[in-house]
Amino acid sequence: MFLLLRIEGALTMACQRCLGEMRHPLALDHRLVLARDAAELERLDADPDCDAIPVEGRLDLIALIEDEVLLSLPLAAMHAEGECPQGDAHIT
Ligand SMILES: [Zn+2]
Repeated sequence: MFLLLRIEGALTMACQRCLGEMRHPLALDHRLVLARDAAELERLDADPDCDAIPVEGRLDLIALIEDEVLLSLPLAAMHAEGECPQGDAHIT
């Protein structure tokens, strides 16, 4: 049993260089294998190509999507080198 998760959209994040706003496009395409018990999870985790998650009872889809989005975000979002808007730095 597996779940195909496709998330598309855009987030507004603060650039860590100029503190200005930047759009961060989201385009995730994940195939998650649903493991029904610990033994199955262990077996699936042994395969490096396989992204397995444990499912006990109900699957909390919103929490799952939240996790996927958060994991995909860069630790320090910033504009590409030299692409910070000039004269628009928020200096406090
Ligand atoms: Zn910037």
